[in-house]
Amino acid sequence: MKITILGVRGSIPTSGEGFLEYGGATACCLVEAGDQAIYLDAGSGLLHSPDTGDRKVSLLITHTHMDHILGLPLSPLLLSHRRIDLYAKTRDGLDARQQLERLMSPPLWPVGVDIYPSDVVFHDIGKGIQLGNVYVDTMESNHPGGSTIFKLEHEGKSLVYATDYEHSEDKQAELAEFAKDTDLLLYDAQYTDEEYERMKGFGHSTVFEGMKLFEKSGAKRILFVHHDPRHNDDKLKEMEAGLKDTRAGFAREGMVLEL
Ligand SMILES: [Zn+2]
Ligand SMILES: [Zn+2]
Repeated sequence: MKITILGVRGSIPTSGEGFLEYGGATACCLVEAGDQAIYLDAGSGLLHSPDTGDRKVSLLITHTHMDHILGLPLSPLLLSHRRIDLYAKTRDGLDARQQLERLMSPPLWPVGVDIYPSDVVFHDIGKGIQLGNVYVDTMESNHPGGSTIFKLEHEGKSLVYATDYEHSEDKQAELAEFAKDTDLLLYDAQYTDEEYERMKGFGHSTVFEGMKLFEKSGAKRILFVHHDPRHNDDKLKEMEAGLKDTRAGFAREGMVLEL
């Protein structure tokens, strides 16, 4: 599996000096495996996607908070004449299409999904999804309104994408089991410990809790994602320097990893 980190910012995009090193685009990762191009979330990072050739394209959307779908309306994917399979869990009685149409319809956006040349096929998310040789397992996150945690497995390697996730005793145990021995864990560490005290219930976690989970799960590598828009490069570097573990780091836009 080849993983390209396209966007690591949480909540809202950032730009300008001070945000160039880690990047300002919101949640999006591209996973290329066999004949599949699988996007985890469709934040503004989706606009940076490299060309994936004739791989089959799927979008796995954790949830439809703005920062996770912001890239879709202007994505070259929608402007291409290809089939795109979009997966999102039905939430609050709205299926995947209805959730996307909240953003992609007037007055928030001039045109609906059907106007685009691409053929977007919407799917609800069940327990597991088979995409070519990639098996996708899911776990429900702890996040206001709900969010889905994905595990992708391909030829004996796996990665877990756990963003928009707030730790709790029960959920940490469940996630440690779900991410057991995974090769790469992407984990939401939006807040410092001090910030978390003020932001409990907002649905995000910390490096401290992420490292505890990392140890417990036996995962081989952890990368922190969903960086707070108020954390500039200096702040993120300071947080990253505190890790003291070569298997742990903060995700940067443009990073490419092979599993
Ligand atoms: Zn988010
Ligand atoms: Zn969210």
